[in-house]
Amino acid sequence: RNSSRRRSQRTIGRPYDPPSVALPVEPTRVNHMQNGQQPIFILKEGTTRTSGKGAQSNNIAAAKAVAEAVRSTLGPKGMDKMLVDSMGDVVITNDGATILKEMEIEHPAAKMIIEIAKTQEQHCFDGTTSAVVIAGELLKRSEDLVEQNVHPTVICEGFRLASDKAVELIDTHGKGVNEKMLTEVAKTALTGKSTGAVKEFLSDISVKAVLSVAQEDDQGAIVDLDDIKVQKKQGGSIRDSTLVDGIILDKERVHSGMPKSVSDARIALVNSAIEVKKTEVDAKIQITDPNMLSQFLDEEEQFLRSLVDKISESGANTVICQKGIDDLAQHYMAKAGIFAIRRAKKSDMEALSKATGGRIVNNLDDLSGEDLGSSSKVEERKIGDSDMVFVEGCPQAKSVSVLLRGGTEHVVDEVKRAFEDAIGVVAVAHEDGSVLTGGGSVIAALSRDLRSYAEGIGGREQMAIEAFSSALEVIPRTLAENAGLDPVNTIIDLRKAHSEGKSTHGVNVYKGGVVDMAKAKVYEPSRVVEQAIQSASETAVMILRIDDVISSKGAGPMPEDFEGMDM
Ligand code: ADP
Ligand code: MG
Repeated sequence: RNSSRRRSQRTIGRPYDPPSVALPVEPTRVNHMQNGQQPIFILKEGTTRTSGKGAQSNNIAAAKAVAEAVRSTLGPKGMDKMLVDSMGDVVITNDGATILKEMEIEHPAAKMIIEIAKTQEQHCFDGTTSAVVIAGELLKRSEDLVEQNVHPTVICEGFRLASDKAVELIDTHGKGVNEKMLTEVAKTALTGKSTGAVKEFLSDISVKAVLSVAQEDDQGAIVDLDDIKVQKKQGGSIRDSTLVDGIILDKERVHSGMPKSVSDARIALVNSAIEVKKTEVDAKIQITDPNMLSQFLDEEEQFLRSLVDKISESGANTVICQKGIDDLAQHYMAKAGIFAIRRAKKSDMEALSKATGGRIVNNLDDLSGEDLGSSSKVEERKIGDSDMVFVEGCPQAKSVSVLLRGGTEHVVDEVKRAFEDAIGVVAVAHEDGSVLTGGGSVIAALSRDLRSYAEGIGGREQMAIEAFSSALEVIPRTLAENAGLDPVNTIIDLRKAHSEGKSTHGVNVYKGGVVDMAKAKVYEPSRVVEQAIQSASETAVMILRIDDVISSKGAGPMPEDFEGMDM
C-alpha cells in the first residue's frame, strides 16, 4: 500500500498543511534601552506583549481548555452538546468539528487547536475529537517536562520522532478492506451519535452510495464525494431515508395536467425561459383597434406554441428548465403529455447533465434529439408534506442521491452530519484500502511500541517520546471515563492485554474491561488515526515553540486575559 498516493479532491489525505498561526504579529512598542540613551520605539503604541514561560503556559492552558471542552463527547458513550448561538438557533451534536465551529473561540492558541479539528474533518471526516484530545494531552505532558527543565525544542524534537514512528507503526497494523469491512467502518463512525439506533440502516446506504460512485484508475479506487448528493427532508422517520441512482429535485411539476410519472424519460435540460421575451425597456403599445389586440395575443400564443413544438419535435417527454415557464406554455406541454419542472437550481442542472448524459441548451432553437438526456423513470412523489421529483435509472449513474428523513429539524440535521461522516470514512477506507481496529486498541499498541522505541533513543528526547507514548493513552482512558468505567483499571487491563501480544484489544465500553475489537467489529480507516496523531503532534509542536506573543491593540483577548472555559 502506498499511503501517499493521489487522492480524490475532497478526500485528500496528505500532504498535511500545518494550520497557519493566527497570532496577530503587528508592530508593538518595545523599549530597548541602548547604552542608557532614550528608549527606542520599534513598534506601534498601544499593544501588549507576553513572553517566555508566561506566554507558553497561557497558550497551553487555552489549548487544553478546548480539548477539555470536547472530551466528554468522545466514543460510543460520549454525550452530546447543545449549542445555542447569539440568534437563539440550537444545534445538538456529538461531532467535535461542529462543536468547535459553533463555539466562538477567540484565543489564538485555542484557534490553532480548532484548526486541527477542521483539517481532520476535511481530510478524514472523522476523528476530530480524538485529534483535539490528543493535542491537549500532548501539551499537558509537555508542561510537566518543561517543569523538569526539558527545553521546548527538545520536546518538539521528541514529539516529531514519536509522531513519525507512530505513522510507520500504523502501517504494520493496517488490515485490508472489503464491502463487509466498509459497513463496519460506517457503523463505527455512526456509533455514539444520536443516530446510533439506525446505524445498520444508514451504514448500508452509505456503503451502497460510495461503491456506486467509486471509480478505479491505475492508482486504485477514487471516490468523488460530490457525486453523492445528500438531501434532507423533515418528517417521517430516519428509516424512510432512501438511496436513488439518480437525482432528487425538491420541486413539483408545473401543471397538474402533466403526467405524474414518465417512463423512458427523454429529458431536455433548458437554460432559457419558456416565456414570451420581455422588452429590455418599459414600452407601451397603444392599441386602437380590437382586431389588433387579438392579433397581438395570437402572436404571443403562437410563439409559445412554437417553443413547445420545438420541444416535442426533439423527442423530449420531460423538460427541466432553469428559468420560468409561461402558464400557457405549461398548458401546451400538459396537452402534449410532457412533464416539466421550472426554476431548477444550477447545481441540479449540472448534476442532471452528468447523470442523464444530456446537454444543457441555452436556446430552444438549438434543441435536438442529441441534446436529450435519458433515464428510465421520472416521477413526482409525495415526501412528507411536499412533492419531490425523482429522476431515476440514469445511464451514467456515476451520481447518486440520498434523501434523509427525520422527525424534526434537529434530528435531520444531525442525521445529515452523521451520514456525511459515514460516507466520508467509507470513501477514505475504500480509497486507501486500509483499516485499523478502534476502541483505543491500535492506540494502545502504538503507545507500547513507542515506549520501547524511546529506550533506543536515550537522552532527553527519550523523555519526550515517553511523554508522547503516555499522551496517546488519553484515548482509551477517555473512552473508559465516558463509559463510566474506572480509567486506571481499564488502562492496567489494556496494558496487560497488549503485553500478552493481544494487539487488537481495546476498551469494552459496554461491559467494562477489555475486548478484542476485531471480534467486536470496531474498525476505522487507518488514515483517520494517522492524521489525528500527525496533526495533534504538529500543532502541539507549533504551540510549544511560541515564547512570545505580541498583539496589536484590538486584536482580541490576550493570553493573559484567558480565564479558562467551562463546558
Ligand atoms: P471522533 O470525533 O474522534 O471520531 P467519536 O466520538 O466518534 O470521536 O469517538 C471515536 C472513538 O470511539 C474512536 O477511538 C473509536 O475507536 C471509538 N469507538 C467507536 N466505536 C466503539 C466501540 N463500539 N467500542 C469502543 N470504542 C469505540
Ligand atoms: Mg467519530
